[in-house]
Amino acid sequence: MPEFFRDEAAAGFDPASASTILTVDLDAIAANYRHLRSIGGGADVAGVVKADAYGLGLAPVAETLACAGCTTFFVTDTDEGIALRVALPGATIYVTNGLTPGAAALYRGHGLRPCLGSLAEVEEWRKVASHAGMALPAALHFDTGMSRLGFDEVEAARLTAEPALIAGIDVTLVMSHLACSDEPEHPLNAIQLARFKPIRDAFASRPASFANSGGALLGPDYCFDLIRSGYGLYGGTSGPGPSPFRPAVRLETRVLQIRDVPPGITAGYGATWEARGPRRLATLATGYADGYFRSLAASGRVYVGGHYAPLAGRVSMDLLTVDLTGVPEGAVKRGDFAELIGPHVTLDEVADRAGTIGYEVLTRLGDRAKRLYTGGHLTVPES
Ligand SMILES: *Cc1c(COP(=O)(O)O)cnc(C)c1O
Repeated sequence: MPEFFRDEAAAGFDPASASTILTVDLDAIAANYRHLRSIGGGADVAGVVKADAYGLGLAPVAETLACAGCTTFFVTDTDEGIALRVALPGATIYVTNGLTPGAAALYRGHGLRPCLGSLAEVEEWRKVASHAGMALPAALHFDTGMSRLGFDEVEAARLTAEPALIAGIDVTLVMSHLACSDEPEHPLNAIQLARFKPIRDAFASRPASFANSGGALLGPDYCFDLIRSGYGLYGGTSGPGPSPFRPAVRLETRVLQIRDVPPGITAGYGATWEARGPRRLATLATGYADGYFRSLAASGRVYVGGHYAPLAGRVSMDLLTVDLTGVPEGAVKRGDFAELIGPHVTLDEVADRAGTIGYEVLTRLGDRAKRLYTGGHLTVPES
């Protein structure tokens, strides 16, 4: 599959027409995958590619991961699973939402594995297996502290005590999910681990999966057989300290106009920003419709012409304004690009200043930006 993504992404890409460019560094994603492989005490790493690979593009991201050696993937629902199946015919695909009523045929038809999280789902999957006359693969998802999906304590006790309940199901994974992996000191991490261990022991012959990206950084004790990573692969670090992951996303937007304004002039909707002295403003071609958070008005900054420039006034739907006064005259001209997210303004910084998390920033990046994929391997191994 030579240069599949770059060609496809580059097709129709005319830089002159681009207002905003989202560059996804596939080599960085592959490097982050290899890094996670190296820290898990031998644990394998699955790619979590739900929500269009956190907004970065399902096919290019999944194929990059497959080239890096990833064979197991997690998605949210059957639609995502079917899309991934098209991209990667040989992959192992788990669907975290579990078995929705009546969806069993979709799972079987596309070779998807449900993450079963209730006895009702187990019952339904067993019936399908019985009709099929064969054991059908699935993960068992245990809740150890999220209270969201997975067997609760009562159902978990029944499952571990009565193996007959899962007769006909090929349990290919036993999993749970951490609530506070981005806070290494949070006591719930160790509590969840202590709750998971006896469950895992009850299914000792089955592979176990417990850690997401943040969980993997808590140490090999948390990694078991399979890390489920999304955010780390895409260059984000939600925990404290410097990031062990390479940034994989750059968002740049065009400088549309530059103007000098006298003291007392206001900028933007609501006239919330006022020039305290003579100021130079630049209008940039990104707004909240592009996923740039309106809440960034208070403390956001961009990197342009080799300098930082703070936001001036509210973020509009398609535009934002920055104060260029601190940037040397001539360093920025009309048509230049400003970095909104990238090496100088990290994803986690943007999220922090917007009052959210990088996961939300990534998944809000809309379709309007031109997408450019750089790097990436040339062939997907046959599986
Ligand atoms: C989204 C998700 C992950 C991935 O988490 P990251 O923090 O992005 O690595 C892992 N497991 C489950 C169940 C998830 O929903």
